[in-house]
Order: sequence, then structure tokens, then C-alpha cells
Amino acid sequence: MLERIRIVLIGTSHPGNIGGVARAMHNMGLAELALVAPRCEVITQDSISRASGADHLLHQASVHATLEEAVADCTLAVGASARSRTLPWPMLSPRELAGRLPAECQPEGARVALVFGREDSGLTNAELQRCHAHVHIPTNADFSSLNLAAAVQVLAYECRMAWLNQADGQADAPSVAPVSDGEELATHAELERYFEHLERTLIGIDFHDPDQPRQLMARLRRLYLRARPERMEMNILRGILSATEKATHRKPS
Ligand code: SAH
Repeated sequence: MLERIRIVLIGTSHPGNIGGVARAMHNMGLAELALVAPRCEVITQDSISRASGADHLLHQASVHATLEEAVADCTLAVGASARSRTLPWPMLSPRELAGRLPAECQPEGARVALVFGREDSGLTNAELQRCHAHVHIPTNADFSSLNLAAAVQVLAYECRMAWLNQADGQADAPSVAPVSDGEELATHAELERYFEHLERTLIGIDFHDPDQPRQLMARLRRLYLRARPERMEMNILRGILSATEKATHRKPS
């Protein structure tokens, strides 16, 4: 999926921003960068330093005279815009866009372009009207324009999350329980006291051998942490441990 997503930058004027975009893309596993009429050198000290090791994307970037040329083979083009425009266009949030990507990228010849504008003036209306939809990153209404590389980072992250969610095996990962309402949760320190007590008790009843731990305590930790015990439940569990210790002391050896 990620290999079918192209980042298109129109009229970028700072090499450092192109480098920052390359870094953001490579961090999130995107690899196709297309530059439309850049207003600066692409390979400079600044762009290479901002790319921080992702400069191969700068060297591989394609350069085009027009947006039409850069997206000619694309089946979906989405323009990223900080401002709302007078003629309303289909609008997506970054997450809605990400939700569509698995299906959009599915067909063999599918190519998705995410199009970003100039640092000083963004995308023109004509450019936005060449896109199927617009995406706006929700921001403080009084300060809505992100740095170009930061905007690419946000959308690239959403692409990666969509890809991860559809990847196999995700469903197998244990998840943490949501906070239960009303009751006070046990604190970290209370849980740690409980784990110490539990380990002591399990050694005392010969269930746990610290010389052959077999990840027992790690597995038990994972179980209890996943359950998010409340303070009251923690007290019950500690009470059970104390009773267990008492009972084993009473037992004739
Ligand atoms: N000053 C410009 C914005 C330039 S920021 C303007 O007012 O339009 C450079 C590019 O980053 C924008 O063209 C857009 O593609 C992207 N960008 C910045 N902030 C964004 C936001 N909040 N939502 C979507 N894209 C954004």
C-alpha cells in the first residue's frame, strides 16, 4: 500500500523543507517524492542535513514542470490545504483519507498522490481543482498553517497507521482495558507493591523458581496491567496473597 502513495510538492522554495519532507516520508515508509517546478536547488547541504539519512529520496525524486505531469498516472489525487476555499470541494480529514487508502491502493495500477503547496502561498485554486478531494489538518483556527514538512509528517503518519491497521497479525496484539468509570484505579506504586508481594508468595508456595523464571512474572505483569485493576480490587488481591502466606505457614512441613 505505502509504495503506491506519492508525495507531490509544488513550488517549494526552501531546500531544508524538501529535506524535512524526505525524512518524514522515510520515517513512515513512504518512498515516492515528486517535485513540481521547485523554486530552489533540491540537493544542498541544508536539504541533506534536514533529510538526516533519507537523502536517497532526494536523489530519487522526480521533477516535473506541471502538476498534471506529476499526477498523470494517479487514480486519486488529494490536495492538502490549510485554508478553506470559496468553492466547496469534497473535504476529508487526515483520518478519513487514511481510512480510504487501503481500498484506494488495492487495484494493481492504483497510485495515490498527496499534493502539498508552496510555503508562502499554498496551493492555487486551479491546482486544488485538479484534485479529487481536499484534506485539511485540524488546527487552531487562528494559526492554521503548518510547516510543509510537518504537514507531510501528519499525513504520512496517518498513511502508516492505516497500513498497520490492515496488516496481518495486528489483531493478535494484547490490548489494554479502557479506564473503568467511577472507581479509582490502582496507582503504579500500588501495582508494584502487589507484584513484589505476588512474587514473594509464589516463591513461598513453590510455584515460582527465580532461578528458572520462564518469564512468569513478566506474563503475570502483562495480565494485571492489561486488566487495569481498581484500588479496591488490588486490596482484595493483596488480601488473598496474605491469606495464602498465612495458610502456608500454618501447614505442617
Ligand atoms: N501560507 C500557505 C500555507 C503554506 S504551508 C497558505 O496560507 O495556504 C505549505 C503547505 O503545507 C500547504 O500548501 C499545504 O499543502 C500544507 N499544509 C500546511 N498546513 C496545513 C493544514 N492545516 N492542513 C492541510 N495542509 C496543510
